[in-house]
Amino acid sequence: MLENIRIVLIETSHSGNIGSAARAMKTMGLTQLCLVSPKSVDEQSYALSAGAEDIVKNARVVDSFDEAVDDCSLVIGTSARLRHLQSTLIEPRECAEKVVAHEGKIAIVFGRERIGLTNEELLKCHYHLNIPANPDYSSLNLAMAVQLVSYELRMAFLAQDKKENSLSLIEQNYPTAEQLAYFFDHTERVYQSLGFIQNQGVIHKLKRLYYRAQLEKNELNILNGMLSAVEKWIDLDLD
Ligand code: SAH
Repeated sequence: MLENIRIVLIETSHSGNIGSAARAMKTMGLTQLCLVSPKSVDEQSYALSAGAEDIVKNARVVDSFDEAVDDCSLVIGTSARLRHLQSTLIEPRECAEKVVAHEGKIAIVFGRERIGLTNEELLKCHYHLNIPANPDYSSLNLAMAVQLVSYELRMAFLAQDKKENSLSLIEQNYPTAEQLAYFFDHTERVYQSLGFIQNQGVIHKLKRLYYRAQLEKNELNILNGMLSAVEKWIDLDLD
């Protein structure tokens, strides 16, 4: 899922920022970097990437904004001053939620160090992302903005992953309604034949107890096994 996310840096003028952005991306599991007309990619970029050289080396370098985002079905532009764009304005957390829910390629575009993104570029974005920083001093360093946005993407990605895993754990570990119904019938049958259950009240209370215990499949197997052992013993005794 994170492979679908492309970080686009427009006309970056400090080559070191490219390396720092790559490092920020890699720590959060992002790999796709696209550079639009960078001033230069040099040893400063590699030095500041500190182990994320592969991201810098594999970065796609293109000449225009359009070329960088052409194949993306969701384009998010970032800027420190967007408060006028209320309708399409999102914060990093909301951005990450939208991104993890999106199928298809996504570009998150970061602007020039001095002037950010142009209005023309912002008009080409589906959403505008603003990090709600100190209103009196809201402009983050480019790579730090990349870090913060990438962190939220990772948090949303991990949350989704955890949800999927716990759903599959539930499927693996917990009995189905049918399996529980079989166990309740089994319980009723055995305890009725022992003369312990004489009315529905007891079985209702037992059901409540077992539901509350959230029995796992292997625990249910043990309980069924115990009932079967009792059944077998009654049969032996009757014989
Ligand atoms: N003076 C520029 C700031 C550029 S900072 C301006 O006013 O737009 C370089 C880039 O970092 C920005 O183009 C944007 O992509 C990102 N950035 C910095 N601060 C940000 C913030 N508060 N919210 C969103 N993006 C931010």
